[in-house]
Amino acid sequence: MGDARELDDGLDRLWTPHRMAYVTGEGRPAQGYDKPSGCPFCLGPDGPGNSLVVARGERVFAVLNLYPYNPGHLMVCPYRHVPDYTDLDAAEAAEMAAFTQTAMRVIRRVSGAHGFNIGMNQGAVAGAGIAAHLHQHVVPRWNGDTNFMPVVGRTKVLPQLLDDTRDMLAKAWTES
Ligand SMILES: [Zn+2]
Repeated sequence: MGDARELDDGLDRLWTPHRMAYVTGEGRPAQGYDKPSGCPFCLGPDGPGNSLVVARGERVFAVLNLYPYNPGHLMVCPYRHVPDYTDLDAAEAAEMAAFTQTAMRVIRRVSGAHGFNIGMNQGAVAGAGIAAHLHQHVVPRWNGDTNFMPVVGRTKVLPQLLDDTRDMLAKAWTES
């Protein structure tokens, strides 16, 4: 009990390979993530490749993590390409906090998450994959981390699963 990998759940095998792709650096832009031109969070709100944005605010937005630790794992990011939490002005910090609260409420409502890991890795040394653009992780947790979308997940490839997750959360967000 307690280890999601021991559970007979096809979702775990769907999600994990993409986490590995991230760890091994596949898909990393040649120029790296440091400049806005190569930054997936700068592409986030309006970029043609990004259909994973859940909600847009005035100063921050919420976007699903392409390499989630759990289904529903999203990130709250400022639009500005700044690396450090202390770079935010008061209005950005306030909206980031509000978005984080809304994300928790929405994910709880949609998925019945039992808990969350919330936080920011500041700097590559602290484990930030994309250190140049601040992002707050919101990772839903379940007892045993069984997944909440087995119905849509078992037979679909991951991009479709992410789209479904995004649509589900975006709809709940607008209703919140
Ligand atoms: Zn950026």
